[in-house]
Amino acid sequence: MKIIMLGAPGAGKGTQAKLIAEKYQIPHISTGDIFRANIKEGTDLGMEAKEYMDKGQLVPDELTVRILLDRVSKDDCKRGYVLDGFPRTIPQAEVLDNEVAKLGDKIDFAIDVDVPDENIIRRMSGRRCCPKCGATYHIEHIPPKKEGVCDVCGSELIIRDDDKPETVKSRLDVYHKQTQPLIDHYSKLNILRTVDGTQDMQDVFDAIVKHLEA
Ligand code: ADP
Ligand code: AMP
Repeated sequence: MKIIMLGAPGAGKGTQAKLIAEKYQIPHISTGDIFRANIKEGTDLGMEAKEYMDKGQLVPDELTVRILLDRVSKDDCKRGYVLDGFPRTIPQAEVLDNEVAKLGDKIDFAIDVDVPDENIIRRMSGRRCCPKCGATYHIEHIPPKKEGVCDVCGSELIIRDDDKPETVKSRLDVYHKQTQPLIDHYSKLNILRTVDGTQDMQDVFDAIVKHLEA
């Protein structure tokens, strides 16, 4: 099963993608996570991506497409994958559609996790992440068992650099201009499924599973 997660930054794409990956035993691929891992390792790719990420802008398509295609060509993707944060532009979507078609395959579902902008600001200001294992929490809605500490691996949780209020605003603007048109793109392909992302995490997940298994 090949699934794309759509939605504004902070809508809960990563949270849901992890649950989907676990249930269907397919890899969760987040281009944001790949960039952050490269930043941490200090690679050239990471240094280039960081310039854009810190400003709340998108990393150029050419670079992003290259790392995504490299990742989905790996053996563990043969049974499918859930993409979180890719595609984010129409050209990225077109490259993905073409590459998948070349393999005689198709994307099965594009899941839009719909959350209004006013909730997004709250979601992102309360987000805490584990820099080691990638687990994500929310200080009010999905808190870790012990404040500031990852349930999974015990590391100290951090606030993402790009979750500062001034960056959040530009990320939302970028989303509306460059990423929202993808909703129309996948709707025309009849694979768009929309879920109300303002519900509890488990209710959002149940709604997604209903679509995937309909
Ligand atoms: P995205 O991957 O779309 O940027 P995340 O999955 O990281 O978003 O979620 C953003 C923040 O909102 C995180 O702090 C996460 O714990 C929290 N969150 C995710 N889903 C829900 C939900 N259904 N209700 C409340 N908070 C949520
Ligand atoms: P995310 O973790 O998905 O919120 O992504 C964090 C940041 O990484 C984004 O704000 C972009 O700067 C960059 N990024 C992640 N995925 C993409 C993509 N598909 N295209 C361009 N930039 C991306």
